[in-house]
Amino acid sequence: MTPTTALTGIGLLATQDPALGEISDAAVVIDGASIVWVGPSASVPAADERVDVGGRAVVPGFVDSHAHLVFAGDRSAEFEARMAGKPYAAGGIRTTVEATRAASDSVLRANLGRLSAELLRAGVTTFECKSGYGLDVANEERSLRLAREATAETTFLGAHVVPPDTDRCAYVDLVVGPMLTACAPHARWVDVFCERGAFDASESRAVLLAGIAAGLGARVHAGQLGVGPGVQLAVEVDAASADHCTYLSAGDVDALVHSDTVATLLPLVEFSTRSPYPDARFLLDAGVQVALATDCNPGSGFSTSMPLAIALAVREMGMTPAEAVRAATATGAKALRREDVGRIAVGLSADLVVLDAPSYVHLAYRPGVPLMYQVWQRGQRVI
Ligand SMILES: [Zn+2]
Repeated sequence: MTPTTALTGIGLLATQDPALGEISDAAVVIDGASIVWVGPSASVPAADERVDVGGRAVVPGFVDSHAHLVFAGDRSAEFEARMAGKPYAAGGIRTTVEATRAASDSVLRANLGRLSAELLRAGVTTFECKSGYGLDVANEERSLRLAREATAETTFLGAHVVPPDTDRCAYVDLVVGPMLTACAPHARWVDVFCERGAFDASESRAVLLAGIAAGLGARVHAGQLGVGPGVQLAVEVDAASADHCTYLSAGDVDALVHSDTVATLLPLVEFSTRSPYPDARFLLDAGVQVALATDCNPGSGFSTSMPLAIALAVREMGMTPAEAVRAATATGAKALRREDVGRIAVGLSADLVVLDAPSYVHLAYRPGVPLMYQVWQRGQRVI
């Protein structure tokens, strides 16, 4: 028998569960790694331990469904140059590939550990992690093996960019052949950067279908730099998520509305590349399922701050604070096809963020301010 813990004195509990909604003056009871009771503080059942959070707001632990955390090297000079007017291009990935290939396992593991600790401090209790800076069989396999040490949500992104001095066709053959075979045992997902300068529709389709045939779920980088075939391809293969969606055609929006594919918006990238933000308001009004993720990566946006992504979604993309929090929790879980995280309800993983604020609105109202008072992950208080 594990001791039970009652979190009481929750001023506002935003469960993200459709049946429970928002509860004022609430309590949550945790047994082991799971939530076993949710309701008003006044009727909380007895528990072995009581933690009174003093009227603070509680939201589910954030679910970051898009991050690139296995890499080495520093690209702050590239960021500095971009801020001085140089445009972002996908080829900058190659700088990180060189540094990643040259790094030892322990350097890559230490970098990943530091970033996953940052995510936790930002309230992220579930995160996805992609390969994509190895771009050869040994380094892609190594990246996923290391990522798997940190999270179950690992994604094979051998099709991130064609490595320099490599024939495109030969590289796609490698990705769908020996590289996939080596990587699939460590991966849950397959992803492709379907974009001008990266992979076209037929190359992307080949990569996704090979991954699906190897037992992986699909996700797609689509519409980051311009309108392209990525979103409709994502829908065609029933990808869990089409990510970026900064540039969409009317047909793309229609395809998303009539699909089970989430549009995952990554506003920290637009912030860090000084690019136009996607129109989240338009997508939500059209009926698209919208998630938010960090896309933490060394090139186009090196931030682990889901709270800042929420603030940008509200300030720049027309989402309400409630919609932005939902996008960073329940819909983020949908983008990973997970039922056990992203909401606060009986039977789900006890992943909770206690904000040092009376309402989750403060996540947008107080941008850049660390509001994580407590973070609970699988029933353990980790912050
Ligand atoms: Zn990405």
